[in-house]
Amino acid sequence: MSDKLFSVSDQNVLITGGSRGIGRAIAEGFAARGARVLICSRSQDSVDTAVREMTAAGLSITGLTCDVSHPEQIRTAVEKAIEQLEHIDTLINVAGVNRRQRAETFTVEDFDFILDTNLRGAFLMSLEVGRHMIERSSGTQINVESLNTWMPLKGVLPYAMSKFGMQGMTRGLALEWGRHGIRVNSLAPGFVLTDLTKKLWADPTMQAWNEANAPLGRLAQPEDMIGTAVFLASQASAFMTGQTLYVDGGFSSGWSWPIPLV
Ligand code: NAP
Repeated sequence: MSDKLFSVSDQNVLITGGSRGIGRAIAEGFAARGARVLICSRSQDSVDTAVREMTAAGLSITGLTCDVSHPEQIRTAVEKAIEQLEHIDTLINVAGVNRRQRAETFTVEDFDFILDTNLRGAFLMSLEVGRHMIERSSGTQINVESLNTWMPLKGVLPYAMSKFGMQGMTRGLALEWGRHGIRVNSLAPGFVLTDLTKKLWADPTMQAWNEANAPLGRLAQPEDMIGTAVFLASQASAFMTGQTLYVDGGFSSGWSWPIPLV
């Protein structure tokens, strides 16, 4: 039996960063539940590959290129998305980049590279789609934050700042747009195996650290993010807005001692 409360089958969904990793898994998760999904990312190749593979699997999915660090590309992409889909019910801001180094070594170029995609890009995308949702008096937006929103990790300061900013944006837009029938929430993944992180997690020291500290005892797969994204887009979360849901295997619940318990 399909449950209408959790259904996204009548939705048109736009997903930035939908060609790989978490965005792609979420795109597949929505399409597999009957949603019409449009993904975008910077590289034509990665969009084409994702669309080809998902279409071959029988999913309803289209794609276009859009680098969210370029405001004019956001405007064009949203125009095309509305042309293709007629309207957008749910926007999911997944596109994100990172650089890991000591705080004092970050340059203006590093800072702009990270913030222009993770924060300014998501903000301008939210506004562009938000204006369309305001006209329709309906819509849902989901922003992909990080465990860094809860507590910054050493070595990724501009990234952590971008995710803190994204949480502010989620709350602020929720406040302003609730009266337009638009809900804005965030999904904050823990440690997920993707292109962004696979080099880091190939290190045995990192693996041992995760094994010792992860409450659920494993890294996440991108598919672990689907359920929460579907929930936040569906009627099941109809009275939730401005919230960040951590999908982190328990990491944000607290700390662990480095010695065994007696
Ligand atoms: P990923 O595997 O590197 O995928 C990133 C996706 O974003 C790709 O589709 C990429 O495609 C697209 N993208 C990157 N920059 C873009 C831009 N300027 N404009 C449009 N698309 C862009 O990364 P991921 O691990 O799935 O991460 C996805 C999101 O989850 C990010 O926001 C990240 O901060 C967040 N997150 C990840 C983890 C983790 O452990 N992996 C944990 C917490 C949060 P193109 O290369 O074609 O542009």
